[in-house]
Amino acid sequence: MASGKCYHHPSKDAVAQCSECGKGICKDCYDSYGAGMGAGKALCFDCTEEMVKDHAADIAAFRRQVKTEIILMIIGAVIGYILGVWAFIGDNGSMAFVSALLIACLGASLGALIKVGKFIKRIIPGDAGDVIAYLAACFLAPAYPFITLFGFIKRNKQIKQADEVIASDENILRNMRDYFAYTQTMENNVGVDLTKLADQGGVLFENTYAQTVINKGEKEAQAELRQGMVTIAANGEIVRSFDVKPKNKAA
Ligand SMILES: [Zn+2]
Ligand SMILES: [Zn+2]
Repeated sequence: MASGKCYHHPSKDAVAQCSECGKGICKDCYDSYGAGMGAGKALCFDCTEEMVKDHAADIAAFRRQVKTEIILMIIGAVIGYILGVWAFIGDNGSMAFVSALLIACLGASLGALIKVGKFIKRIIPGDAGDVIAYLAACFLAPAYPFITLFGFIKRNKQIKQADEVIASDENILRNMRDYFAYTQTMENNVGVDLTKLADQGGVLFENTYAQTVINKGEKEAQAELRQGMVTIAANGEIVRSFDVKPKNKAA
């Protein structure tokens, strides 16, 4: 299936090759972190790190996108409010206020409205589509404040999720790095007690993988490591669900 040696453990034969760069992966590495991509697909640590960098770049682009959206919403709301006050000036005071507020929300919902309009025109082409899109915009008027509010809530939730993805990806990468350090240290210190190596001042003192082995056992540490790859793949799905505009992505 694969030839050569593991790029992390030069003394061990490779059982798989990275599906991205072709580097050799030994059975130990494959079982620990290379698996989990599904369909027998293996990924080396370097390519996993690249994938995490891509997530971070997409998240940064998403943040810029949300910032622009919010600025546009605020500009729309301000223009809408001024137009509303101007249009209803001289009318009953509270009436003018409510109208101005509605028009402000219309301004803030403009992005969502344009999406609705484009969607309708895609199913109904021609003048009929234009008329129906216009009517839909009128009929949706009472929903504008809600569309605006839900838009804010949704984006806020996604930004929180993005922070969690970054923290989770970084923890997993750290655990993988610590796993390599752990296996290499153990190979170089055959017969030495792990607790001694992981004690204060020892080479594995701040090694998260070694700490998990001590606290939960080797089996659980391996299981957590394997789960890491699955989580990184799942985090990628979350990042894709943010719908980052393609212009921010390097093809
Ligand atoms: Zn690779
Ligand atoms: Zn290996």
